[in-house]
Amino acid sequence: MPANKEHPGLTDVQRILAVSSCKGGVGKSTTAVNLALALARYGLRVGLLDADVYGPSLPTLVRPEDTQLFQREEDGLILPLAAHGLKVMSFGWIDPSQQRGAAILRGPMVSQVVSQLATRVAWGELDYLVIDFPPGTGDIQLTLTQQLPIDAAVIVTTPQQLSFVDVVKGIQMFDTVKVPTVAVVENMSYFQCTACGDKQHIFGEGARRKLIEQFGFRNTYEIPLDPRLSSDGDEGTPMVASRPADPVSAVYYELAEAVHGEINTLQSESTGRPELSYNVGQNCELLYPDGRIVEIPPAELRFACRCAQCVSESTGEKLIHREDIDPEIYPTAIKPVGNYAAHVEWSDGHRSSIYPYDYLIELFDTPVPEVTP
Ligand code: ADP
Repeated sequence: MPANKEHPGLTDVQRILAVSSCKGGVGKSTTAVNLALALARYGLRVGLLDADVYGPSLPTLVRPEDTQLFQREEDGLILPLAAHGLKVMSFGWIDPSQQRGAAILRGPMVSQVVSQLATRVAWGELDYLVIDFPPGTGDIQLTLTQQLPIDAAVIVTTPQQLSFVDVVKGIQMFDTVKVPTVAVVENMSYFQCTACGDKQHIFGEGARRKLIEQFGFRNTYEIPLDPRLSSDGDEGTPMVASRPADPVSAVYYELAEAVHGEINTLQSESTGRPELSYNVGQNCELLYPDGRIVEIPPAELRFACRCAQCVSESTGEKLIHREDIDPEIYPTAIKPVGNYAAHVEWSDGHRSSIYPYDYLIELFDTPVPEVTP
């Protein structure tokens, strides 16, 4: 992110990462703090802002030696606190009454107050400012995303049935303001039996597989339901700080590496991935950054749809037939979804086509190997 002179506290902040969830209580703050600590273990300079005004949890998750706040004389910016090598700030330290659930702010005030806090802290030079977003995908979160120069988002969810819908809502909210979702964390994903080491997916396999198949999401991470994540957090020393060599901490390192890699690629604009578009009256096109175009007949693209109406989720069998597709079919809308896929709406009224770019490349832009006689 280019330094933003409009925002005094963020002038020397390189990248801003939102950690978001559709609902409260899914482990968003636990993820944010462990991700921030994991990034810091790679030698990056990291700040963590707890923007959850309704229930700030950072004052429980980390315990800075001194929680007295000071304002810098020259510009009035608030100096962040320090914990486990991170620069940290939360409403819980500004107004300790909020730790007792006394939040009185509503709607538009919340996003205003949060963005003021983000921009009025003297973060100094940071490689990452991780923002633990207020839960939800409504106006508060949308406004906040517009007010702050956020580079990317990580979405946290749990593996229940509805979580896929929640993640899609989150991705779409960030998409509307052109913030790419670079990773999805499925928290409390499984329980590992302490006796036999067996992974038990208590709530089923969750949304992970669907995210990979339907959105082409490469970066999905499973964090187990682990009582130590809770007790370490309650004691003010999150897992990555208290048990850096634990396999669960290792998942946070993988997440940190993936996020860092994705953001660097986005910033260097060398993703190499194509865009999907429609040349009205003619073909759909995969348009690569170097100008190369691969044409796809609309009916072929419609036939390639992998949504639950078109392909059986349990058997993988195709539920649509080529002969049922109108040869004159055409897309009425094409929109990017996250960083890896495009959403297409069709003239036959079909609205649920999502095509990962990798899938399109594999299907329409992979040379057929020559057969030698
Ligand atoms: P959110 O920020 O989404 O409200 P929190 O991170 O505060 O959620 O987590 C809610 C509660 O669940 C906390 O008590 C936390 O310690 C616990 N928790 C979070 N993730 C896990 C996990 N993977 N295993 C066990 N407990 C967890």
